[in-house]
Amino acid sequence: MLKPGSTIGILGGGQLGRMLAIAAAQMGYRCIAYSPEKEIVAADVCADIFRNKWDDAQAMAAFGQACDVVTWEFENVPVAPLGALGELLVPNARALETAQDRLNEKRFVEGLGGKPAPYATVDNRADLTAAIERIGTPGILKTRGEGYDGKGQWRIQSAYEAEGIAIPDTPAIYEGFIEFEAEFSVILARGQDGEMVFWDSTHNVHDGGMLATSTLPAPDIVTAQVGEARDLARQVADALRYVGVLTLEFFATGNGPVFNEMAPRVHNSGHWTIEGAATSQFANHIRAICGLPLGDTRTIAPGMVMRNIVGKDANTAHSALSDPATQLHLYGKARATDGRKMGHTTALTFD
Ligand code: AMP
Repeated sequence: MLKPGSTIGILGGGQLGRMLAIAAAQMGYRCIAYSPEKEIVAADVCADIFRNKWDDAQAMAAFGQACDVVTWEFENVPVAPLGALGELLVPNARALETAQDRLNEKRFVEGLGGKPAPYATVDNRADLTAAIERIGTPGILKTRGEGYDGKGQWRIQSAYEAEGIAIPDTPAIYEGFIEFEAEFSVILARGQDGEMVFWDSTHNVHDGGMLATSTLPAPDIVTAQVGEARDLARQVADALRYVGVLTLEFFATGNGPVFNEMAPRVHNSGHWTIEGAATSQFANHIRAICGLPLGDTRTIAPGMVMRNIVGKDANTAHSALSDPATQLHLYGKARATDGRKMGHTTALTFD
């Protein structure tokens, strides 16, 4: 159990790190962030920052020395330099390795009984042609690594259209398109003793591959499939000996929940838990990595809508506060460019 005043290192300096640091500060911990980025929005609420390249071994070792525990908010942190952190790293690096490659991730989850969309690896044009012959269209070509918020993805409607698509110069996979009825995620926290807690699953609606809204209550098809999805998520967390918050995304279909992807971290579809649950995903991640008991995850209002604020909409975001039920979170990003997540609102309804 980490004593009050201990230092938590966060790899990555984006909004997830910012919200983790706020939760940590409330529990008497100080956070320092490590990120090579010019803009580190977690810095506003961190005691210190290390602005260094990921592969700067000296800086990473010094970061470890300054911390009592180190976690991440960004799952594309290169794994090799993290060896310098040894046991300080929580969760362990296996979760990162698994989630950084869509192929590894799908194979791992299939091994535990999960059902992903049909997929094939694509390293060249012949692979794509063969994949489309086997799986059919429509489908999505995705890079195996580095993708998030719909980046590194190309939708393909027909074999003819595929001929005009440039094959990415990094390994990719082709996935059959799932005609889902709804999307949802399972967000859990696993403690150091293996205890696991789950938040309610929201109905997630995406726009252009990026989450737009998360809503409760979720439609019946989601509620009916959450149990099976949680069973899989529980197995994933146990198999990885995971400690902290873990997210698995699913498509709810007529054939049950189809696994989409996992994020070994707090998740955008869990931002609502700051106001909408007895304990937020951020607070429980901090509790888990610091060896504290996990908090109650129950939802405190019958209705909730979390809405992302993207791009220039951030410039008028304060107008959302004319509704007294709406809580506003802005992430402190300087440039409100198209497609950039700038903040979110959460509105709870009690009747
Ligand atoms: P991802 O980054 O893989 O989670 O993809 C972002 C979003 O694109 C998902 O949340 C879905 O809305 C959509 N999407 C991705 N893969 C598929 C698929 N195989 N079938 C249908 N929609 C998909």
